[in-house]
Amino acid sequence: MTAPRLEVDLYKIEHNARVLVDRLAERGVSVTGVTKATLGSQEIVHAFLRAGVSGIGDSRIENIESMRRAGIPVTMTLIRSPMLSQAERVVAAADVSFNTELRVLNDLSIAAQKTGRTHGVVLMVELGDLREGIMADDLEDAVRHTLRLPNIAIKGIGTNLACRSGVSPDAGNMAELGSLATSIEATFGLTVEVVSGGNSANLNWALSDADTGRVNNLRLGESILLGREPLHRQPIEGLHTDAITLVAEVIESKIKPSLPWGTTAQTAFGEAGSRMDRGPVHQSILAVGIQDTDPDGLATPHGLRIVGASSDHLILESETGCLNVGSEVALQPDYSAVLRSMTSPFVVKSYTFSESLSESRSGCSQDVLRPVQQ
Ligand SMILES: *Cc1c(COP(=O)(O)O)cnc(C)c1O
Repeated sequence: MTAPRLEVDLYKIEHNARVLVDRLAERGVSVTGVTKATLGSQEIVHAFLRAGVSGIGDSRIENIESMRRAGIPVTMTLIRSPMLSQAERVVAAADVSFNTELRVLNDLSIAAQKTGRTHGVVLMVELGDLREGIMADDLEDAVRHTLRLPNIAIKGIGTNLACRSGVSPDAGNMAELGSLATSIEATFGLTVEVVSGGNSANLNWALSDADTGRVNNLRLGESILLGREPLHRQPIEGLHTDAITLVAEVIESKIKPSLPWGTTAQTAFGEAGSRMDRGPVHQSILAVGIQDTDPDGLATPHGLRIVGASSDHLILESETGCLNVGSEVALQPDYSAVLRSMTSPFVVKSYTFSESLSESRSGCSQDVLRPVQQ
């Protein structure tokens, strides 16, 4: 088979999405499936839709455009503030966009008037993580301004936490978002339809006993794809954590000294690691590298350890001896590694639909060596 490849088990992704959609529905919260890590993969979008997500969100207009071309029949939201230079594309392809700048809202309005469309907007509020968002004190003015813009409809408000500073969603900041919605309704006599509380990092809060209050939507990517919540990267009960694996092929396998020789300086990607003579080691090279994935985000099968990486090589040490040239090793990617592999043209995407894809195997056969699930 072609390598490197991402093996994506659509059964597991659909299962993960459905469990989250169902659990959150009990709490009055809808799920926007976030596809940005998948390059708008049609297969994955359809798995999200079968699971009952209420809409699709992506941060890249290119992905939304390609899903539109593929005829995906669902509300598409651009979840990053539009570039001014892309206002027309955003109005043409996305039903809704997240916004924080009046200048951008003006241009979206002009673009929407030209095409006779109404573009929905969600105003994002800063609640402490210090990435995107209108300061709470400025929200009322932003709403007043937006209400005057032709062909723009305010759909709701939202916030995003835990992405830049690791600020956790909790009862306090979620209640603040809710009360902002209520006060906008009182001031302007409108209905704030959507109160979008955040991303996968909100799940610990949303699935606890906490009152979800006015929060009625979350935008979920990582938790569906990887079955983990991103605050502590713990598995979420009942979800698969091995829906996506990265398989790479061994191109060299030798016994080598563990200590380099000659005069050493910087490596291709910065400082060299620590040097310790551990005697001769079984070293193998996988034909995958920084161009294809994030080597720091890969978990290896038992007995294998990643000891180095460059553009096109991933260097492994094996406790168990032989890795045959031509054999394959399956690695468990984290979110950063999935993102990079999904968007690398060098990595083939291979979709399967099975409940028992990843049985762990061992030995030195031509079989794929896979990480043991815990
Ligand atoms: C990426 C992103 C999400 C989804 O985050 P996950 O951690 O993958 O669930 C939600 N909202 C915004 C604004 C994002 O940029």
